[in-house]
Amino acid sequence: MAVTDEQVARVLAAVPKGLLIGGKWINTDKSIEVEDPSTGKTIARVADATPTQGIEALDAAVEAADQWAATDPRARGEVLRRAFELLTDQADDIALLMTLEMGKPLAEARGEVAYGAEFLRWFSEEAVRIAGRYSVAPSGGTRLLTMKHPVGPVYAITPWNFPLAMGTRKLGPALAAGCTAVVKPAAQTPLTTLALAAVLVEAGLPDGVVNVITTSQSGKVSEPIIRDPRLRKLTFTGSTQVGRRLIEQSAQQVLKISMELGGNAPFLVFADADLDKAVDGAMLAKMRNIGEACTAANRFLVHSSVADEFARKLAGKMGAMRIGRGIDDQVQVGPLIDSAAVDKVTELVADAVNQGATVLTGGTSIDGPGHFYPPTVLADVSATARVFTEEIFGPVAPVIIFRTDQEGIDMANDTEFGLVAYAFTENLSRAITVAEQLQTGMVGINQGVVSNPAAPFGGVKASGLGREGGFEGIEEYLETKYVGIAT
Ligand code: NAP
Repeated sequence: MAVTDEQVARVLAAVPKGLLIGGKWINTDKSIEVEDPSTGKTIARVADATPTQGIEALDAAVEAADQWAATDPRARGEVLRRAFELLTDQADDIALLMTLEMGKPLAEARGEVAYGAEFLRWFSEEAVRIAGRYSVAPSGGTRLLTMKHPVGPVYAITPWNFPLAMGTRKLGPALAAGCTAVVKPAAQTPLTTLALAAVLVEAGLPDGVVNVITTSQSGKVSEPIIRDPRLRKLTFTGSTQVGRRLIEQSAQQVLKISMELGGNAPFLVFADADLDKAVDGAMLAKMRNIGEACTAANRFLVHSSVADEFARKLAGKMGAMRIGRGIDDQVQVGPLIDSAAVDKVTELVADAVNQGATVLTGGTSIDGPGHFYPPTVLADVSATARVFTEEIFGPVAPVIIFRTDQEGIDMANDTEFGLVAYAFTENLSRAITVAEQLQTGMVGINQGVVSNPAAPFGGVKASGLGREGGFEGIEEYLETKYVGIAT
């Protein structure tokens, strides 16, 4: 069913536009304009926090910390569970809001609401399973006891590409563990986080446990918070470049940190792969979120015996996708986030073509309004092309040939990043050997999506530190204390 102007107006009007500090929504003198990337038009204005207001948000998180840490685990879990149910009830509205500010097609936005809400349910269940251990020292005598404590106030910085799930993937475990938080969404997509905060308030979260600051000066507002000795944890999802800077800032107070950074995922297709399955997997790995995902397949490394057929089939499917405004239910490819993103993709494609690549579909940007770039497949890409080393963050699939398994694996690992890799083969022992040799935090075998709230998400090398989701996710918000007891 088509979205009406009335629905758009109602959903935009319902979102709080202020800062959430200590349970109060606070307006600011200046505001940030939020743009719909499919039209280039302003759809809302939200508060623009100053560095002083950032510290006020931290004050509120610090003030609420002891009481929240002392709240029964079951009660903490039940707030998260209620928030999961509210988000699920409001899924259509939140999905529409996300599509409006970020551009992804509605079906994908609904998928993100389901995925994002699941972190709240998963961690509502984990809140009551925080446990230490008890053992006898190997030499006898002393008893070894470990106990878990919430790490303390958390600062969470989230990106624009998954505006809901990146928030719940951090807040779910933080709140379950007994931590309070300040959240700062990206200035381009603040509305979904504000809607999430309203849901948490409605679910009964006490004042000050989660505080939200939206700001046009992310660096100036964040640095004093990160350098404040009362903060104990920084969790960041975003680019490796910004992540590196934040790691340096965190060193001052020796913060516990989680970093979910950039990727350059290889997608390996071996000679024995089921090619139709590989193409379907490639569509998901490349086109989910318009290619604007850290997990997006960035390099298609295909065995020389099947490369032409794979590239042709992929180009057929990608070329047939419907491009347009995400709120149209028929649309499969929305706009990129801004004109700079279109410029970057255009440059990367031009560089590959200059180095000999053939364009099988797409390849030229689309005139505005909106920031559209068509699904593009490039064949015969040189290993020295920039698409091989840089995160594309757009709907471009470069196909590169390998001749032996070892060559494919070596090419896959030839990057500073190590978030995720995909491999398609019908041979189980090859799948296991390849999974063992890939230098990434996650591997998808015969599947183009690995994200799952019950699994540990995260990367190695320049893709980050720490894991989100799974049993591991809550550990990032807990400290282990060991008590030695003489007997
Ligand atoms: P980004 O520029 O690093 O921004 C991410 C967040 O950091 C935004 O909230 C941004 O706010 C804020 N920020 C920027 N500069 C900052 C500074 N100096 N101090 C404090 N905060 C700062 O990344 P992006 O372009 O939005 O997101 C895309 C990147 O995120 C890609 O590299 C992608 O791979 C990565 N990503 C990784 C994962 C993962 O789980 N590994 C998931 C999703 C995305 P403003 O935008 O308001 O400045």
